[in-house]
Amino acid sequence: MGFKPLPMKAACIGILVLLTLAGCRRQGSTGTTATPQTMTTPSGIEMVLIPAGTFEMGSDKGTPDEAPVHKVSVGSFWMDRYEVVQEEFRKYQRPDPSHFKGPRQPLEQINWTDAAGYCNDRSRADGLEPCYDEKTWECNFNANGYRLPTEAEWEYACRAGTTTQYSFGNNAGSLKDYAWDADNASAKTHPVGQKKPNAWGLYDMHGNVAEWCNDRYAKDYYQQSPDKDPRGPTEGRERVIRGGAWNSSAGSCRSAYRTSSLSVDDTCLADDAIGFRCVRNAPASSSMGVSPMSITGILPVEDRKSHGRDAHATGTPNAINRVWEPTHGQDARATTGGGLMPSQPKPKTGFVYDDVYLEHKTTPGHPESPARLTAIIEKLKTDGVYAQLVPLTPKPASLERIQAIHAPRYVERVRISCETGEEYLDSPDVPISRKSYAAALMAAGGVLRAVDAVMQGEANNAFCAIRPPGHHALEDRAMGFCIFNNVAIGTRYVQQQYGLSKVLIVDWDVHHGNGTQAAFYDDPSVLYFSVHQYPFYPGSGSEAEKGRGQGLNHTINVPLPGGSGDKVYLEAFEQKLRPAALAFAPQFVFISAGFDAHENDTLGGMRVTTEGYGKLTHIVKGIANQCCQGRLVSVLEGGYGLKGLAASVETHIRVLMD
Ligand SMILES: [Zn+2]
Repeated sequence: MGFKPLPMKAACIGILVLLTLAGCRRQGSTGTTATPQTMTTPSGIEMVLIPAGTFEMGSDKGTPDEAPVHKVSVGSFWMDRYEVVQEEFRKYQRPDPSHFKGPRQPLEQINWTDAAGYCNDRSRADGLEPCYDEKTWECNFNANGYRLPTEAEWEYACRAGTTTQYSFGNNAGSLKDYAWDADNASAKTHPVGQKKPNAWGLYDMHGNVAEWCNDRYAKDYYQQSPDKDPRGPTEGRERVIRGGAWNSSAGSCRSAYRTSSLSVDDTCLADDAIGFRCVRNAPASSSMGVSPMSITGILPVEDRKSHGRDAHATGTPNAINRVWEPTHGQDARATTGGGLMPSQPKPKTGFVYDDVYLEHKTTPGHPESPARLTAIIEKLKTDGVYAQLVPLTPKPASLERIQAIHAPRYVERVRISCETGEEYLDSPDVPISRKSYAAALMAAGGVLRAVDAVMQGEANNAFCAIRPPGHHALEDRAMGFCIFNNVAIGTRYVQQQYGLSKVLIVDWDVHHGNGTQAAFYDDPSVLYFSVHQYPFYPGSGSEAEKGRGQGLNHTINVPLPGGSGDKVYLEAFEQKLRPAALAFAPQFVFISAGFDAHENDTLGGMRVTTEGYGKLTHIVKGIANQCCQGRLVSVLEGGYGLKGLAASVETHIRVLMD
């Protein structure tokens, strides 16, 4: 077998090594059994904790500069899960040099110095010490900020415990599942994270854009390199590039393949096949054990100062006493046992509730009644589920958070209407009582509490048993039993407080969530997916409503005829939600969880079963697991047949807890 040579662009200079490789058939791979911990940085970038370890670097069967294979050990470090994308780069007012434009496409045409400069910008933004001297561009490896990976770190992370040609084995035919390369990229880059990750959860290590390493390049470096934390020669005009790109042959995408380019300062001489990702030192304790609480969480902006710079990455050595060494097996993902990896703690599900939710009194006989919540809690207690949940006590949302979605005049009108004893708000279907304003603030606050719990590692996911519900509430108007749009407020909160740019909202309430749709109709940072009975209240939600302007195609409506049941819902989730969600790659997922499509509901006309809600939950949870470490907050909307509601919520929560 042979590989095609690495194509070269005219503008690309200094690619030294072309590859013709035959017969690399090294068998076997070593692999680990679990994905390392991840965190999201204050500036909203996902990083993976790469454990300290020893690996076999290089290849005896590749190009001469890859040999000899030698054992190398590296300390633990954090590595960006994705290549640096253009929207992140632009945050620092740096002109985007990329040839193939797109907010989530990898940055390219970036020279080494500008990549290092970005590392420094990002370090300063996150309150960390920059690694690069901006005059000499020497790297201070002791600084706690971001830098380019060493070549050894890059290959170790790419291999993710394997010794095979690629991180997924030796079969170049599988490369298309993991990489955009010359055979499938259609001669351009693609948004990051669309292909399969390696066993450590890193995306695009093969293909898309080749990546700058910190090291200077020397052809014979491996022949005398140190076996602990090698950092390349001290002199040289070229820097190492790893991983292959959209225009690379399969051979150039191998884990051991190395090439180089001049690290010129002139961007126009940089190649549109070269990008990068950042790393950051992790505490030494990461090799032995790190508290999952401390690293899965991100501190909110105001907490960061008080916790110090490294609060989110400080290990607690005794929390998990693990030794992170590769185990042996054919496939990096194979479960090989041996007890070397930490056993995953049982997922925790948070539960938001407050008695003030019962103080929002509606008219006698109104379907949206306090009895809905008491029925849910009674059922959860009777069946022993309640005791397994992490109780989350909410605080009222601040006006600032409410006003991220609602007009200040409307918020004031809600307050005054409640305090003066008005009977309803805006329309007779939103009856209110004196405490309704307090309950509505607390309902939104409940969602914020759940977001905090998930983002800070207190819970893996959470359910909010709150009322009044929210998804019909508009910027300046109450409707459909809803006062403040809880999920929309939560969405803006997770974006603003935690710097996450992309949020998926899945709305399976039997009614169309017109308020949520309106809030994000022209916003490409939120993917709103609604499945609902149609035509039905409130009348909106046709398939033609797809978003507007930049938000076009970021609203997906699946209107269904009355009488639809599990099969139709599951088809919509499998065929419409899942592919759109995976392409969007959300960083956080909300469910507007109405249970009024239940077969026994008193308002809806659908036939979804209790088990059906479990299956829908499973699909959404799978999306969250695949895209954003399971970060999911589910928020109660409708559901009016008390028995069906309580049973469905319990099934829903059991799947969240699994
Ligand atoms: Zn509803």
